[in-house]
Amino acid sequence: MRKKIIAANWKMYMTVTETENFYRAFAAEIPQNNRFEILIAPPATALAKLSELNARASQRIRLAAQNMFYEESGAYTGEISPTMLRELFVRYVILGHSERRQIFGESDALVARKVRAALHYKLRPILCVGETREQREAGKEKEILERQLRVALQGVESSSLESIVVAYEPIWAIGAERSAVPEQTQQLHAFIRCVLTYLSNAAVAEKIPIQYGGSVNTGNVAEFLSQPDIDGALIGRASLEARKFADIIKAANKLS
Ligand code: PEP
Repeated sequence: MRKKIIAANWKMYMTVTETENFYRAFAAEIPQNNRFEILIAPPATALAKLSELNARASQRIRLAAQNMFYEESGAYTGEISPTMLRELFVRYVILGHSERRQIFGESDALVARKVRAALHYKLRPILCVGETREQREAGKEKEILERQLRVALQGVESSSLESIVVAYEPIWAIGAERSAVPEQTQQLHAFIRCVLTYLSNAAVAEKIPIQYGGSVNTGNVAEFLSQPDIDGALIGRASLEARKFADIIKAANKLS
């Protein structure tokens, strides 16, 4: 059985005080029967606070970082290393988010170095892949996904590949009015699993969770998660309010 993961990507929102308020409200709302691994990726400034709050809580969430550099230490102004994240009990790191690729110019090759570093330091990479609207309209989405996966993961040992999570985030569906269509998204998740099989083998590919991201909310989460190859969600806007995020988790848990 693949792990099912619901993750919050807070992007550059939430101060330390807001994080504290969120956590207190959210922890009280997590359903007792929750079957999902819940991740929160706050801004780096709030990781220590979230880690501290979490250590004291009975219902644990997992901490994720939104990015990291691939070196352990050094003269890299503004960067955060894998060991710094480990010290705060961070378990996951989002890598190659489209905002990192588009706004900060991260290439597939840079993402690949980060993926290797994360695995080396025992952090689980959440590797984001996804096509632009133009690429989709040109029918190139599979080509793009295949390239992003191949460059980021080529040469990673199958034993390490089992630790990764893939997040399929069509860029045109992020922060959009409408999400992608669940049935069409399922086809692309199945395609991603084929590429993962090609890069490792079927047994490993079967174990890798593939999340969907792009305008997930309370109303559509169940439809996405009921698809056979959609193993969770990566959520931006709708994860910023404790009640909304908790409602998504409740809706997901209603699925049999
Ligand atoms: C994201 O940026 O990863 C994301 C999925 O955002 P939103 O849920 O706001 O579309």
